[in-house]
Parts: sequence; C-alpha cells; structure tokens
Amino acid sequence: MSIADKRCFNHPDREVAIRCPECGRFYCRECTSEYHDRFLCKTCLDSLGTVIEKQRTSFWRLLKPGVGFISGFILSWLLFYGLAQIIYTIPAYFHSGIIQHEEKK
Ligand SMILES: [Zn+2]
Ligand SMILES: [Zn+2]
Repeated sequence: MSIADKRCFNHPDREVAIRCPECGRFYCRECTSEYHDRFLCKTCLDSLGTVIEKQRTSFWRLLKPGVGFISGFILSWLLFYGLAQIIYTIPAYFHSGIIQHEEKK
C-alpha cells in the first residue's frame, strides 16, 4: 500500500501529501503546516504550540502567585497598619475628650 492510496485523516476524499512525523497519520497539504523545517499536522502543531506556550508562561505562572502573595501581604499589612493607626488615634481623641469633659464637671 503506497502513500498515494492513502487518504487524508481529515479529508477522506483528498490524497495524502505528508505523513506527520509526530503522530504518524497521513494528511493532505492543507492539513499540515511547516514547523522548524518539518511538516506537522495541525493537531500536533497545536499541541506543540501549547507545550511551547506552557514552557514560556510557566515561569510567570510560578512567579505570579508569589508576587500576588507578597503584594497582597504588603497591601494587607499597610491596610492593617493604617487601620491600627486610625483605631489608635481615634479612641485617644475620644478618651482625652471624655477626660476633659469629666474634669470640667
Ligand atoms: Zn500529527
Ligand atoms: Zn486534509
């Protein structure tokens, strides 16, 4: 059985032009794309593309939660620090105000 007898995996009516080196399936020219001097089918190209994309974003994916955690920690610390400052200052005013009021009596 020669390659000419085979039909495209996606198009049963089309003659095979390329055999995908990744999955070994036969495809017509339309179903394949050149990738690093190799002709791969679109399915393999997509999976390769996602692998490359994963490798590219893995660093940021690892970094992002750390940055998010640190910035969140700093933000919450600042928020609590600011709140603590407000909480500490407001009762002091009230307290001194009450004392002054009581002293006047
Ligand atoms: Zn393939
Ligand atoms: Zn095809």
